[in-house]
Amino acid sequence: MMRWETHLHTNEGSACATASASEMAETCKAAGYDGMFITDHFYHGNTCIDRSLPWEEWVRQFCLGYYHAKETGDRIGLRVCFGWEYSWNGNDFLTYGLPPAWLAAHPEVITVAPKEYLRLIRDSGGCIVHAHPFRQEHYVEAIRLLPDMVDAVEVYNGGNREEAYNERALWYANSYGLPQTSGSDTHWKSAFSGGILTDFDLQDASQYLTLIRSGGIKGLVRAGKDVLF
Ligand SMILES: [Zn+2]
Ligand SMILES: [Zn+2]
Repeated sequence: MMRWETHLHTNEGSACATASASEMAETCKAAGYDGMFITDHFYHGNTCIDRSLPWEEWVRQFCLGYYHAKETGDRIGLRVCFGWEYSWNGNDFLTYGLPPAWLAAHPEVITVAPKEYLRLIRDSGGCIVHAHPFRQEHYVEAIRLLPDMVDAVEVYNGGNREEAYNERALWYANSYGLPQTSGSDTHWKSAFSGGILTDFDLQDASQYLTLIRSGGIKGLVRAGKDVLF
């Protein structure tokens, strides 16, 4: 079984993260993972990249966390995949499977309405995982469920304040027959608690949708423990 972190922030891309991508790669490996996805807060979320930059330059800087983590990962034997976390007034949609060059070529991702964004990503071959769908915090305007517009549901999120938010997410995934994922949502070095277990070695994020659709997620890491389905 391989163990993957699916939800992680770096201080290259996220204003609320404390560790660099390279430090995150080192500690992720030390915490027993085989790979990780970088999912920094995107343009409408808590990004630390200056929104007044021209789009291509904004994307280049936004992707630095991924590039730095990949460099370290290649050196220490940790797979590093690219993704991002799209925000819609506090509802977060993890986006995987499209490379930095796709983002640079699609500046409309920041101007289209959120539902158009979700459609665009999926029509372009990417995939959407609804992150912590039942989280309730001051910055979450409303709980919004879009079961027909997502590929999977994050049923364990290490950043949720209450376990009930995870329990409700599991109910949601089961009710709609949506695949389940788990992620630490870690913003610092010591907070690894989530992840997925696969019997399949992803070479990059473009294979993640196939893995989700084919039932390739065989279990989840919950509160640091590996639990097979
Ligand atoms: Zn954050
Ligand atoms: Zn996050």
